[in-house]
Amino acid sequence: MITALVWLRNDVRFQDQQSFFNACKSYERVVAYYTFEPKDFEKTTWGFQKTGKFRTRFNIETLQSLQLELKEKNITLIVEKRSATVGIPHWIEDLNASALFFQKEWTAEEKLISNAVCDSLSNKVQIFTHYDQFLFHPDDIPMDIDSIPQVFTVFRKKCEKYSTIKSCIPEPAILDKKSLLAAPFTIPTLEELGFASFDTPTHTAFPFLGGTTSALNRITDYFWKSERLSFYKQTRNGLLGSDYSSKYSPWLANGSLSARMIYWEVQRYEKEIQKNESTYWLIFELIWRDYFKYISLKHGNAIFHLGGILDKKYTWDSNSEIFLKWTEGKTTEPFVNANMIELKKTGFMSNRGRQNVASFFAKSMLMDWRMGAAYFEQQLIDYDVHSNWGNWLYVAGVGNDPRDRKFNIKLQADRYDAKGQYQKCWLQNTLFE
Ligand SMILES: Cc1cc2nc3c(=O)[nH]c(=O)nc-3n(C[C@H](O)[C@H](O)[C@H](O)COP(=O)(O)OP(=O)(O)OC[C@H]3O[C@@H](n4cnc5c(N)ncnc54)[C@H](O)[C@@H]3O)c2cc1C
Repeated sequence: MITALVWLRNDVRFQDQQSFFNACKSYERVVAYYTFEPKDFEKTTWGFQKTGKFRTRFNIETLQSLQLELKEKNITLIVEKRSATVGIPHWIEDLNASALFFQKEWTAEEKLISNAVCDSLSNKVQIFTHYDQFLFHPDDIPMDIDSIPQVFTVFRKKCEKYSTIKSCIPEPAILDKKSLLAAPFTIPTLEELGFASFDTPTHTAFPFLGGTTSALNRITDYFWKSERLSFYKQTRNGLLGSDYSSKYSPWLANGSLSARMIYWEVQRYEKEIQKNESTYWLIFELIWRDYFKYISLKHGNAIFHLGGILDKKYTWDSNSEIFLKWTEGKTTEPFVNANMIELKKTGFMSNRGRQNVASFFAKSMLMDWRMGAAYFEQQLIDYDVHSNWGNWLYVAGVGNDPRDRKFNIKLQADRYDAKGQYQKCWLQNTLFE
């Protein structure tokens, strides 16, 4: 059978998925491949694991859900934990596959792996790559990557005026049953990936469950059942509960949900329920997400440098005791502490919380912002290289904030947690655990 391998990385879905669509169109047998890349579980120079337990568990759930979905389409999903640089050449040979499809990644570590994978394949194997993680596709934006504006509003307005958003990619036709591989391919467990099983506290902001099915359930709940989308602009700076914001970020981060899928669902909502500032604002936030992807495309490794994309010289500290106070929620600011405890115990923190703890870390504690970003990378269930490092740059004053603001934490706590309920939730609960 003429076979293609689809390598999944941060596009772990079947719907609105370019690789599957293209592969299924031209190949008799399509096999999907995902690996828990060993490098992603190593410790960084800051002493954190690149991937912590929350994201690992979420990714396992995502793969479990996708494996079942793909089976219905007669596509086998192979999941491993050896490097793609070894696994992919093995499967290409074993399956006698003549093509490899995958989503383009451009950050240094991701590129190192994809380049090594491509180098390991004979030139008889055709390689097809494409961008599939944007709202505004790079082919459709009204500017070159080199001239992406340094100010978000300029970028947004140009895209809104001169660009369009592509329709979702249709589902491919179902392949012949014979294309399924006989062997059962098990998914590594949390323990096999080096973590003990754990329970998330019951007062978590959201009981995240990986997989496109649960992402779509969340859309049903947040848009169609509760119609909370109609109030998003007023509630999005909230701190407590499941509905102050969409909570789509973990699914977007591993690609089990695409930004286009959300965009077109908002369009339908605007037609069938209501169009208002809130429905627009969710798209506005998705444009932020795109913006940080374009910033990292434009600036390459500078997003990981101390001076950021502005090459600014500040004096930063890296004292490990001060750092520990921040990660453990033991600083002088209860509002920061509550947020840091939430992150430690659940892998999630609101956008308002992230802005405050990052600003406090970089601008009050004067700590090397990259340590904070690296801790977030380990801890966040929704870690996304572009959004995380882009937001950290922004808050630390070495990125795209033209005003280089510093948050007044006490005023922020008074404004967003006036009755102290959020702080009580995480500070008190911790005392009794
Ligand atoms: C220091 C810092 C680090 C961050 N790290 C990450 C990260 O690793 N991964 C991540 O997805 N987001 C990150 N964010 C952005 C934002 O905090 C989260 O996307 C948001 O809190 C997720 O919750 P939600 O899905 O309910 O968001 P909603 O408010 O419902 O927004 C909808 C979607 O818009 C996008 N979005 C919203 N705000 C931002 C933003 N500021 N930047 C980029 N995209 C945005 C997200 O994809 C989000 O899911 C970070 C923000 C800060 C200040």
